[in-house]
Amino acid sequence: MSSQVVAPRIRGFICLNAHPAGCAVNVQRQVALAEQGTGGGRWGRALVIGASTGYGLASLISAVFGYGADAVALCLERAPQGDKPGSAGWYNLAEVGRAARAKGRKVTTLNGDAFSSQAKDDAVAALRALGGPVDVVIYSLASPRRVDADGKSWSSVLKPLGGTYRSKSIDLNKDVVNEITIEPASGDDIEATVKVMGGEDWQAWMDRLAKEKVLAPGCRTVAYSYIGPELTHPIYTNGTIGRAKAHLEATAKVLHAGLSPSGGGAWVSVNKALVTQASSAIPVVPLYISLLYKVMKAKGTHEGPIEQIVRLFRDHVGPGKTPQLDAQGRIRIDDWEMAPDVQKAVADLWPTITTENLLAASDYAGFKQEFRSLFGFEVPGVDYTKPVELDVAL
Ligand code: NAD
Repeated sequence: MSSQVVAPRIRGFICLNAHPAGCAVNVQRQVALAEQGTGGGRWGRALVIGASTGYGLASLISAVFGYGADAVALCLERAPQGDKPGSAGWYNLAEVGRAARAKGRKVTTLNGDAFSSQAKDDAVAALRALGGPVDVVIYSLASPRRVDADGKSWSSVLKPLGGTYRSKSIDLNKDVVNEITIEPASGDDIEATVKVMGGEDWQAWMDRLAKEKVLAPGCRTVAYSYIGPELTHPIYTNGTIGRAKAHLEATAKVLHAGLSPSGGGAWVSVNKALVTQASSAIPVVPLYISLLYKVMKAKGTHEGPIEQIVRLFRDHVGPGKTPQLDAQGRIRIDDWEMAPDVQKAVADLWPTITTENLLAASDYAGFKQEFRSLFGFEVPGVDYTKPVELDVAL
């Protein structure tokens, strides 16, 4: 047991620690929204790959507390060790487990590498132990790297293709608007990013679940993507990560062909830009999000991960729902972000932003607050002067 006062240790886009009580309060807020926002119907069992933070955590909470599912939740998180706190995702899933038990639901948490066959073995065994096949599989990994069974390692990179990318950005350490330069992809950058963030591992999961006969008839599976505004296209949609997302979309079509005859399906959902651990690390995105949040909050259309996923399940992939698809076959819950008036307002603000007006003209304060809140800090209702128990079991 180790109880202590925990203060944030932040370096740029990385927070080195987490506050267990703050993470628990964040989860409780999401649980309440998931319970209110259900679209009706029930799922028996859910599997969420990348379930501990961001969109995956919201998907897990929505499936369990909105649709009554028991669940297997896979993550790669750091356990608390002595006087060192665990990672935010660890504390998030500890609280999901506690809340689920209180409601008579079962959530089995697996902490391991999703790319490994061990994780797939463990998930199949955990689904069997839950007593039946899986009705919904959410693939929400955001991983910097992948190591294959033969030891070969691949690193995902965020690079433009063809030419150097220059853009305005924010230096998160100094809170100043700066200019960044990113050199184009070279060597095996594209192949490696597709390996890590493309659809190969999603397909491996679905093939494995089918082979083990743990897919329920009518099983639905969804993976997440992002498109965003033209100003980020060179580094995102038209860059190395965009190639991986294109591969994810192609994989959805292959999986859909296998699942649709029994009434199921596979889709990519294009989601809104959000402050998460993954997105904060993408150059330019923190500045774009600061402007986007300013505009969407003023319009009353701002959503966080739980609001997005509640809407995704209620309108598109929940039990009995028929997804509405765009011309490329994707679900679009980024529709409010991409609304022409929102995009025009952001594009008009973009050239006017300087270090001096950053706080007044954008929601950079909201970005920073939300970033800290990802790790359980600055969460309303938490007394940060009190010691808190770090040794929380999953
Ligand atoms: P996140 O960083 O909040 O969550 C990533 C999850 O993956 C965590 O649960 C982490 O534990 C898990 N994980 C990472 N590596 C793992 C591994 N090797 N094995 C097991 N688990 C592992 O990320 P996020 O922002 O919620 O992104 C999830 C998906 O949503 C990604 O595909 C991302 O591209 C997409 N997306 C994100 C945004 C955004 O703005 N954040 C927008 C649209 C789409």
